Amino acid sequence: MSEHLPSFRLDDQVVVVTGASRGIGRGVAEGLAATGAIVAVTARSLADAEVVVAAITDAGGRARGYALDVTSIESINMAVDQIVADHGRLDVLVANAGLGANLPALEVTEEHWDSMMDANLKGAFFTAQACARHMVGAGAGRVVAISSQASLVGITDHVAYSSSKGGLNQMVRVLALEWGPLGVTVNAVAPTFIYTPGTAERLDDPDYRAKVVERIPVGDVGEIKDVTGAVVYLASEAGAMVNGSILTVDGGWTAQ
Ligand code: NAP
Repeated sequence: MSEHLPSFRLDDQVVVVTGASRGIGRGVAEGLAATGAIVAVTARSLADAEVVVAAITDAGGRARGYALDVTSIESINMAVDQIVADHGRLDVLVANAGLGANLPALEVTEEHWDSMMDANLKGAFFTAQACARHMVGAGAGRVVAISSQASLVGITDHVAYSSSKGGLNQMVRVLALEWGPLGVTVNAVAPTFIYTPGTAERLDDPDYRAKVVERIPVGDVGEIKDVTGAVVYLASEAGAMVNGSILTVDGGWTAQ
């Protein structure tokens, strides 16, 4: 082993993942468990979280389920306090929970706008704040937010989503400045289209998928493990010096 190769493992670290019932959140939760982490699998429904906990424990990992709705600050605080009470520590937050939908700007309603902002931006902030209160007390922690390539470039029919994720990037930068000196790094992963339950309907349409793939220089949409790899990097010793970054996992979409 070389002293110049940092660890990519998270042995015994307590990791919270929001929106872990399915898609990227579930995949990241399972991937982090495989690096040795104790995963707090959070979902709106405790029953959904327990399904993922069972999958992780069946695979030999450690996990516990919690109900956490990121649109309720009360729910966030209750879950985070319970996680700390159960495990005695909280090392990493993966703020993944989010919504996405295609809608032309002329058809955007107040309800659509508010739902995107509440889940993708406000929810991520108050979850990060609740977790950081414990991390700052311990003098160490990592926050990784799941942003999107739509935070960096315009994508037609995504005005509320793009605005929420652009705001998320700015949240990451400000928190990195405030919490970095206190031992807590804050970064985001910005994926391109990843095939998940949230995008399946759109990507199963061959015309839509072809238009998407045309924009991705590596020639295909991403997989959940592409996001997991970036999260593991940012959450582990390997990412210790990274703070305030928006790490694209987009096959080159935003390089154009
Ligand atoms: P998904 O399959 O639709 O899953 C979304 C997850 O978020 C579900 O677990 C859902 O829980 C949860 N969620 C929604 N509202 C919530 C709330 N109020 N409180 C707690 N959890 C909530 O989505 P995905 O594709 O995996 O996307 C996950 C994240 O990656 C999102 O932030 C998304 O914007 C981002 N992202 C995705 C892509 C992509 O192409 N897939 C690309 C870039 C960024 P329920 O099961 O309870 O609904």
